[in-house]
Amino acid sequence: MAKVAEFGFFGDRIVKAEEMKLSAMSAAVLYGLSVYTVFPLVVNEKKEVSAFCLSDHFERLLNSAKIIGIDTFAAEWDLVKFKKAVKELVKANTITEKVFVRATVHISAEIPGTRSRGLATTLSLFIYEASPIVPQTGARLKTSVWRRVPDYAIPSRAKVNGAYVNSVLGKQDALDSGYDDCLFLDVNGHVCELSAANIFLVKNNTLITPDRSTDILEGINRKVILELAEEMGLKTTERKIDLTELYTADEVFACGTSSFVAPVIEIDARPIGVNGANPVTQKIREQYNDLFVTSHYLEKVL
Ligand code: PMP
Repeated sequence: MAKVAEFGFFGDRIVKAEEMKLSAMSAAVLYGLSVYTVFPLVVNEKKEVSAFCLSDHFERLLNSAKIIGIDTFAAEWDLVKFKKAVKELVKANTITEKVFVRATVHISAEIPGTRSRGLATTLSLFIYEASPIVPQTGARLKTSVWRRVPDYAIPSRAKVNGAYVNSVLGKQDALDSGYDDCLFLDVNGHVCELSAANIFLVKNNTLITPDRSTDILEGINRKVILELAEEMGLKTTERKIDLTELYTADEVFACGTSSFVAPVIEIDARPIGVNGANPVTQKIREQYNDLFVTSHYLEKVL
């Protein structure tokens, strides 16, 4: 179990984290009707706390709610109010190292039936330790027997709790088979992402990642990496990717808030690249880590 900070934000106030409780009769529990995001907080030597890509995370939260039809959230919350809640949360706790904030909008209305509009929502925020979900020294992936949920069933673009059953199926299957994580394909057999991270391949110094219509979550770190790569003078392409392109890539890496930039060293028992060399990934990793020290992606919250 990850370590959780003492205080959370629930509804409209700061409470003890263990007191953040939803009813077993809520639509959030009954149908998985919650949308969420996870963003990092970092502390500098002056003990100032900053959130990484806060506005992007809030925008994705709003968009996830919009896709699912959770309309009361946008009616009650905007970026200014959200930032105020984050600031209250940070002030209530003592943050001494990089941590994550999980922000979730739950449909807290009780037994409303299978619908989403006009229902009461509750925002919860809590802080927990920023430990990576895949090995940072080299992850081993297994192509999942489960396909990524398509846009016409449960949109992967919406970060909705219920859809994470798909990620759990993929990840558990990979763990059962001795791998670190799964590699999801879409219903047409194109590469999508891991259970909770986006994927890039490097071929001839070009970064290639699945385009946004390949049933991926539009990762905030995916966008940051694309911008960073351009700044580093690397060519980037967003397009459909075949599984065998990954097998024959020079390098493969995963990225996401909770996976950071993690090299992938093996997929389906095939080693990636030549003798494990991944110079482009390492350079991106270094520059990505620097963004948490100083960059325009950081927004001071305390
Ligand atoms: N894909 C999925 C399915 C995820 O759950 C995540 C984690 N939020 C990502 C990709 C990476 O997104 P981000 O960079 O915004 O953390």
